[in-house]
Amino acid sequence: MIRLTFHGAARNVTGSSHLLEVNGKRILLDCGLFQGRRAEAWEKNSSFPFDPEMIDVLVLSHAHIDHSGKIPMLYKHGFRGPIICTAATRDLANIMLLDSAFLQVKDAEFVNKLHARKGLPPVESLYDADDVIDVLGQFQTVGYRRKTRVTEDVDVTFYDAGHILGSAIGLYDIRDGERELQLCYTGDLGRPDRPILKDPEHVGDVDILITESTYGGRIHAGNEVILDTLEDVIKRTVARNGKIIVPAFSVGRTQELVYHLHELREQNRLPEISIFVDSPLSVNATQIFRIHPECMDAEARQAVLTHQNPFSFENLHYIMHVGESKDLNGRTDPMMIISSSGMCEGGRILHHLRNNIEDPRNTIMITGYNAEHTLGRRIVEREKTVRIFGEDFALNAEVVVLNSLSAHADRNEILDYHRRFNPARLQHSFIVHGDLDQEQKLQSALQDELGLQNVEIPSPGDSYLI
Ligand SMILES: [Zn+2]
Repeated sequence: MIRLTFHGAARNVTGSSHLLEVNGKRILLDCGLFQGRRAEAWEKNSSFPFDPEMIDVLVLSHAHIDHSGKIPMLYKHGFRGPIICTAATRDLANIMLLDSAFLQVKDAEFVNKLHARKGLPPVESLYDADDVIDVLGQFQTVGYRRKTRVTEDVDVTFYDAGHILGSAIGLYDIRDGERELQLCYTGDLGRPDRPILKDPEHVGDVDILITESTYGGRIHAGNEVILDTLEDVIKRTVARNGKIIVPAFSVGRTQELVYHLHELREQNRLPEISIFVDSPLSVNATQIFRIHPECMDAEARQAVLTHQNPFSFENLHYIMHVGESKDLNGRTDPMMIISSSGMCEGGRILHHLRNNIEDPRNTIMITGYNAEHTLGRRIVEREKTVRIFGEDFALNAEVVVLNSLSAHADRNEILDYHRRFNPARLQHSFIVHGDLDQEQKLQSALQDELGLQNVEIPSPGDSYLI
């Protein structure tokens, strides 16, 4: 018996968690945190729709928190099985989960201050650093293209997803009595011809598909446009004597942005400007990028091997300590500050936004997808005032949205990837990890253009027997 149940990232983009049951064994595909409105996020993140003790194995597609962030809680609630992923994913998950634990503890402190004022009982943080350190012992790493036993009836083989360092598309070989089926879970699908990472790899024909759809109905601009836009934004902000504030995911986006800035500098197109990467997590993640050349494309691998560090150049400064971060506020020279979190939901970026958002000389450059109800989304939608740390601020700075830096395949790239599956064999397709409008657009395209049948958009908790 094969059953699939969609517990997260169903009709939205965060909290990825899908349960694959094969002959009584329970395999969880990803275990991500839900991000969005604080109360709703707390509600969805503070419990599980299944018993964590009953999960036999967790297979992790990549280290992003919306795919991995609930792992320490799974441990806290009794999960003791193996967590299978690539080596780079384990290394990144290590630092990202510790960072997440720090934020969880801070978040609970903040909620408890409000609760104390209202006479409500205190809440416990979802997890802390001890839970992270304990669960790290359950990770088992596997190289790409090496078939590995998950349970008696299921094997998994990882293929490059081209999304972030270590990201993997999982090909599952499933035995169910006389039947032998193959399932592909794309995790987050990256893009061909991107800097640093290898292109997404095809896994061959399958019977069952679970695909992401973040940009299922949109098309990104090309690479050249990115360099041109970056150059223009920097030049006009420098001319205004302003600062460029860049909320960016610490892992992936920050390194890609630095790589592009390096390219601009090599081409003598980067004006005189100080660039700060202000995030301890980004600093640590950049080190992990450097020790995993097996995940890189030929160009980035060559750069690392010949000791030209593509993540370093003159005028680029990495900031670890909070004192140095605060010092940036007192400076009046033009600069670019890249900081996290990407959706502006926490971290040092909030301080930089608070200090700079009201000055029209400044620019806020958005570099990735922002889920509904996040501060990042409010900035993308150019709301007149936004709330930061409980206070209202006028959004007077220029807002630039660089969607083409996305680590997610766009509509055409998703379709190109899926075009290689034999539609006669592919009997069940499930679209996850997208806002509903994007999921519906992808559903129509998969059916009409690729001729796929049984293309479903599951709601949270929907279960399918296959
Ligand atoms: Zn991701």
